[in-house]
Amino acid sequence: MTKTDLHKRREQLGREQRELAIAEARQRAEGELAAIRRDEHAAALDKIDAYVQEQNEREYREFVAGRERLEQRRRELAELDAWTPPRAPMTRAEAQAGLGELGSYLDRVEMAERERLTRQTDAALSRRLHDWTFRRSWDARHPGGVDRCGCESCTAYRETRGGGMPV
Ligand SMILES: [Zn+2]
Repeated sequence: MTKTDLHKRREQLGREQRELAIAEARQRAEGELAAIRRDEHAAALDKIDAYVQEQNEREYREFVAGRERLEQRRRELAELDAWTPPRAPMTRAEAQAGLGELGSYLDRVEMAERERLTRQTDAALSRRLHDWTFRRSWDARHPGGVDRCGCESCTAYRETRGGGMPV
């Protein structure tokens, strides 16, 4: 091997070594790039997962809310079904019939009261005939006697018996 050959050989080896270093550096760079891409992919997947999960949760919430609205609506309809309208107002005839019944009831009450007062006065007038103390007291409370006294009892007595005081 000549000196020139050796020199060429040396240059050749030097070139190859540089090329290897470059290839190695490129490989390293590519590896780093791949790692970065992997991280980016992972982050993108996480984002997609989070998005999908959020969508699912939102759809589920909407589904639940929708079901609650339906349930509420169903309850309202059921209440409406169970509701009975208030009684229709009375007709004029019904109202008059009611007033008539009330009137005759009041008449009966008034008549019973008049009879009670008359019986009470009957008893008082009988007692008055023999109880002189009672007679003075009763006469003082019923001026003019049953024929002229304006109190409720004497009036009822006159209306029922037509007056006429026993003496
Ligand atoms: Zn009287």
